[in-house]
Amino acid sequence: MNILKFGGTSVGSVDSISALIEILKPLQGQENPVVVLSAMGGVTNTLLEMAESAKDLQDYTERLKLVEEKHFKVIRTLLPASAQNPVLTKLKICFNELEDILQSVYNLRELSPQTKDLILSYGERCATIMVSHIAKQQFPEALYVDGSELIKTDSNFGQAKVNTQITEMLIRDFYKDHQDKLLFVTGFISSNDEGRVTTLGRGGSDYTAAIWGAALNADQIEIWTDVDGMLTADPRMVKKAFSLPELSYTEAMELSYFGAKVIYPPTMIPAFLKRIPIVIKNTFNTDFAGTYIKHGISPSPLPIKGISSIDEISVLNLSGSGMVGKAGFSGRLFSMLSREQVNVVLITQSSSEHSITFAVKPADSLKALSLINKEFELELQARKLEYPEVENGLSVLAIVGENMKRTPGMSGKLFSALGRNGVNVRAIAQGSSEYNISVIISKTDLSKAVNAVHDAFYADLKKTLHIFCLGTGNIGKTLFRQLQEQMPFLAANNDLQVKVMGISNTRTMLLNPDGIDLATWEEELDAQETKASLPDFIKRMKSMNLPNCVFVDNTASHNPIEYYLDILQSSISVVTCNKLGNSADYEQYAAFKQAARTYGVDFFYETNVGAGLPIIRTLRDLMLSGDQVGRIEAILSGTISYIFNNYKNGVLFHEVVKEAQDKGYTEPDPRDDLNGKDFMRKMLILARDAGYALEEKDIDLQNMLPASCMAAESVADFYQELENNTAYFENLKSEATNNNKVLRYIGKLEDGKVSINLQMVDENHPFFTLSGSDNIISFTTNRYKDRPLVVKGPGAGAEVTAAGVFADIINVGKR
Ligand code: ADP
Ligand code: ASP
Ligand code: MG
Repeated sequence: MNILKFGGTSVGSVDSISALIEILKPLQGQENPVVVLSAMGGVTNTLLEMAESAKDLQDYTERLKLVEEKHFKVIRTLLPASAQNPVLTKLKICFNELEDILQSVYNLRELSPQTKDLILSYGERCATIMVSHIAKQQFPEALYVDGSELIKTDSNFGQAKVNTQITEMLIRDFYKDHQDKLLFVTGFISSNDEGRVTTLGRGGSDYTAAIWGAALNADQIEIWTDVDGMLTADPRMVKKAFSLPELSYTEAMELSYFGAKVIYPPTMIPAFLKRIPIVIKNTFNTDFAGTYIKHGISPSPLPIKGISSIDEISVLNLSGSGMVGKAGFSGRLFSMLSREQVNVVLITQSSSEHSITFAVKPADSLKALSLINKEFELELQARKLEYPEVENGLSVLAIVGENMKRTPGMSGKLFSALGRNGVNVRAIAQGSSEYNISVIISKTDLSKAVNAVHDAFYADLKKTLHIFCLGTGNIGKTLFRQLQEQMPFLAANNDLQVKVMGISNTRTMLLNPDGIDLATWEEELDAQETKASLPDFIKRMKSMNLPNCVFVDNTASHNPIEYYLDILQSSISVVTCNKLGNSADYEQYAAFKQAARTYGVDFFYETNVGAGLPIIRTLRDLMLSGDQVGRIEAILSGTISYIFNNYKNGVLFHEVVKEAQDKGYTEPDPRDDLNGKDFMRKMLILARDAGYALEEKDIDLQNMLPASCMAAESVADFYQELENNTAYFENLKSEATNNNKVLRYIGKLEDGKVSINLQMVDENHPFFTLSGSDNIISFTTNRYKDRPLVVKGPGAGAEVTAAGVFADIINVGKR
């Protein structure tokens, strides 16, 4: 025999009640199950609010009407007219009683816990009367049962404790007399010795089901709800949460204790004791097999079973010399709190015994405070204890799973995920069972933290990177196209998802908490009314407080640079192709790096040198692996490379420059490339990455052009000057040719010094055979002594630069 419990959402509407009836149909002809029902979704909360309003002399009648109508509507829709009246009358009687009680509360301006429970009991009663009568159409043996009479408790209204022995006896006796019936039992409600209604705590209908299951030795307790069983996290908070096939009773208990509302924690106890499996199923997706909570679950490959959270918690901290070495101090504190019915959610004690931190529900915090002040009055006055204070606005996040016991490194993973996302941990507790680790964090970080931790533990699931992009020029545009094209590949092969959350150029900006559609970003951005504002863009990025967040600078502008530090310090990684940041003051460069280290995020700028070529990364890997970099030589300007690679075979110098310009390799004024400034910035960044604290002024940059060319007034004059200097260039060329050499404009880092100048190199030099507009860089190191390590390839262009930015973004995701 099975117990089937349907929660608020499963009896909350016409559709869900129809679904419920469909679920019961196939059971016809078998041993009758017992059906336990909750109040219609939202009704318990409304009842509570009405009770509070009545006490405060505020109007509640409107809401009462709505609740009544909610029930009546279901009856009118699901019952034939001829069958409606008797049920409507029964419900009307209930609602009249309820109104009388609320009126008394109003008149007396008093709402005791006892009256509150009585008021709440109407939620379960009305829903069960309603559903049992609807079911009668299909199942003539359906019978409404007011379960409050059968579950006996103490008088702790609001969260009564069950007297198991009497309860089981009453249920068994009742069942014996009604076995032939299909029982529809009210969940949640019970009664004390005097027969006054008590309740089992919010969410307590699940518990009712387990109590009935244990009393009747049921084969299975089914909890029917609105999601696919127990998921790895609250699906409302974590979109990627997935269903768990099996849990041990302890795991289910821990997860629900720390906030997984899908099942009420005490439910597990009677089921555990009687070894009855609990199955959580989905009323709206009957194909889902269910989450089984039972003994002897099979070994799970998952590192943890789930992450739960309590979003609102208060923390009290008790500290002082009076506690040190005082055996029994915490015993005194916590037994006092337990005696006074203050539920302590979590406790941590420092190993110095100098302080105890504990968390309680916000509603209990002031009570806890005044109890402590009373209990420890003498110690407080004598200053042996500090006066405690209540801290609010905090949440608890807990990771749960039996595998944690056997696997080292779980807490490391948890804390690094939190750290990398800038979540400050206020207190930590690990249950001695090692089935859970819980942390107290700021409430504002909760959603980000749960998502980040979920990503960290279920690494083989898709990790989501949230990116905010500045700049929609060639590189930005190309990046969005590449992202769009590669999305399916990334998901399939790297378990990575990149969501563009924000885009801004200098005109407009677009932010979307659901992610921007890369097929239509351009039209959407253009259509935006909001004018672009960099500070606002960054402010909104920060306030979204997303995990795995990356700021991508695809501009060549000074403006974004001043925000880098603040962004990194907000635990957001930065990926940039903009070299103005790293090539300005060394102090600033060092501050970016330091901030990234301190805040556990990434600062990637591979495209600052040689676009998509792996130059920065190669240097970093060489250094990280302990190699000593002796010399770096490089040609890091595609334009300059092109010019000298093609200055041969009788062409004149100014002709080559013109050709380069016509091919689009130069800036509008070719001198912006030929002055070597951009090259110099790249060399500066390389030198800094190689460990030298250099400034621009330290670089020996020798002009490759005669001064008169550089001084020319206009671009046309410049070309004229080049032509005027033909002899100069031709001399250089023939000198090189005569010595079997070629001309190359080379940057060099050696012994901490950087120089950039025109050189003649012979065929033994790796740059001798360079062609086209390629960049080239050679690293001479301890390991690459005789033959240097050379990286060569296209070092400019939107396609390869965007690809480099893309690779940096993916590398953030890999960590
Ligand atoms: P019912 O009315 O059926 O008792 P509840 O609202 O009490 O349903 O519990 C179901 C809800 O619990 C789900 O809709 C979901 O939002 C929430 N929930 C929180 N954490 C989890 C989790 N880890 N797995 C599944 N559901 C969860
Ligand atoms: N209706 C009650 C509540 O909302 C009990 C339950 O749903 O389990 O808390
Ligand atoms: Mg529930």
